Amino acid sequence: APPAPPEPWEREARVAALDGAPAAVEVGNLHKSYGEHVVLDGLNMTVRTGEVVALLGPSGSGKSTLLRTINHLEDPDSGAVLINGRRLGYQDNGKPLSPAKIADARAEAGVGMVFQHFNLFSHLTALENVAGPLRWVHRMPAKEAEHRAGELLERVGLAHRAGALPRHLSGGQQQRVAIARALAPNPRVLLLDEPTSALDPELVHEVLEVIRGLAREDGLTMLIATHQLRFAHEVADRVVFISNGSVTEEGPAEELLTRPRHPATARFLRVMG
Ligand code: ADP
Ligand code: MG
Repeated sequence: APPAPPEPWEREARVAALDGAPAAVEVGNLHKSYGEHVVLDGLNMTVRTGEVVALLGPSGSGKSTLLRTINHLEDPDSGAVLINGRRLGYQDNGKPLSPAKIADARAEAGVGMVFQHFNLFSHLTALENVAGPLRWVHRMPAKEAEHRAGELLERVGLAHRAGALPRHLSGGQQQRVAIARALAPNPRVLLLDEPTSALDPELVHEVLEVIRGLAREDGLTMLIATHQLRFAHEVADRVVFISNGSVTEEGPAEELLTRPRHPATARFLRVMG
């Protein structure tokens, strides 16, 4: 049986700990269109340091666009994203960073991302998928990178599959490698874009279990787009529901998921639940 939602006292302890915590991610008046199609229409939201936020919204509501924009994989048309107080992808003088410097800037800002379709390097082993970027991007010595990659594979329960190529791993294992890779540069903020929606139902649990551990034991700040309402209920401190390009409703996970105030949220929860 899946774990139960946290006890009220656990939630209260987390709420108290988060009270007054500095903002880890600040999204201000974000606008993004593809041609005529307005996807983000003045979206505002904040994620506090140590907070786990579930991002809900109908398919096509802009969850991926928002996460990609936060990670500077997309440029917004207007508005700004601050990560730990800094604009990712821009120099202090406001000029954009060269693409070659973005990966460094992400590591410096302390942000990492996990994608719906894993995006592993298909010709590299699990270990190399984690160790490789540490060497290429973060210029870590090979031995150290390999050691760290080994520790991270252990962390996600895959030490025994270190030498396997992605195609010889299950989807759940591939996503766990992708999580290890995202954790390798030691981010303080992890963005997860529907990390279980490409998985067969029987493989969802092992991935959620890893994410749950990161939330509860590692105190990582996380923004997770997901359709797993029960999971959101268990791990999220807060839920942000987006539709029509902006935040329709947000609130404590327990409250929003059991007593939504906005009709669009209620409709979404009825369909998904
Ligand atoms: P979600 O993740 O909530 O399902 P997305 O952010 O993927 O939503 O997409 C929001 C809308 O933007 C969708 O209508 C999608 O078709 C459109 N869209 C996303 N990326 C692109 C792109 N690169 N070019 C054109 N349209 C896009
Ligand atoms: Mg998406």
